[in-house]
Amino acid sequence: MSAMKERPTFPARLNTSGSKEEAKRPEAQRARTVHQLQTAAPGQLKSQGLGMDSRAVRMSMVGKLAAQGITDAQVLAAMGHIERHRFVDTALVNQAYEDTSLPIGLGQTISKPGVVARMLELLRQGAPAKLGRLLEIGTGCGYQAAVLSQLATEVYSIERLRGLHDKACENLRHLRQPNLHLLLGDGRLGFAKGAPYAGIIAAAGGEDIPEAWLEQLAVGGRLVAPVATGTGKTRQQQLMVVDKTAQGLRQTLLEAVLFVPLKSGVA
Ligand code: SAH
Repeated sequence: MSAMKERPTFPARLNTSGSKEEAKRPEAQRARTVHQLQTAAPGQLKSQGLGMDSRAVRMSMVGKLAAQGITDAQVLAAMGHIERHRFVDTALVNQAYEDTSLPIGLGQTISKPGVVARMLELLRQGAPAKLGRLLEIGTGCGYQAAVLSQLATEVYSIERLRGLHDKACENLRHLRQPNLHLLLGDGRLGFAKGAPYAGIIAAAGGEDIPEAWLEQLAVGGRLVAPVATGTGKTRQQQLMVVDKTAQGLRQTLLEAVLFVPLKSGVA
């Protein structure tokens, strides 16, 4: 794949979450604060003097995800750890922990936390430990890639727009995740060098599931992607789950979703 450029990985140093002050605070008090925050609106959080870098603000988002029905503890923990506000433009920081998609430039959007959590839960299918190698198509601002890096031993994430690929490299620098590899290329071709993948996840929806993804998925692996369904007035995108088993592929269509289009080539 000649257009693909592999970036060097970041030096190995893990970002341990939570501030020192938070660590010192007694457990009961911390639990009480989290409970208050889970029921608070974002405006209230601001008036309580909590900056967007506070772990408590993320815990509020996690509480809402759990209330929406997300039960996978590892997904909730990963989303509680990654600071979404670092991935959006300064003007949008106040909305970073609301369940909304936000513009990230070049006509693209960062997915809603609720949709990210749902797709990651499907991808993990209740696995007790970390997943193996994962492939993400559509790095965008890098948020979902960052969450994935908490859930898998290795993550390859492809973006076709150079401007966003560069932005994601910048946004992800602070995490210094040595297991996260950002690639510039046409994700429809997958990334054969990293295959086979325990999981493949797409953040952009096409007419079909590209053949390369199915080939690069490991037996026992799972793919989660939006795909176009229906015709005319019933035309929409739905989440599709594909399980690759020793007997063949098993496809399941789930709820309607709204993702940016999966396009070809690099721009
Ligand atoms: N997961 C991202 C969501 C970004 S939106 C985040 O957390 O921000 C989906 C992204 O898919 C867009 O950036 C778009 O440019 C990209 N995309 C669309 N078609 C693609 C393709 N063929 N290969 C790689 N990326 C693609």
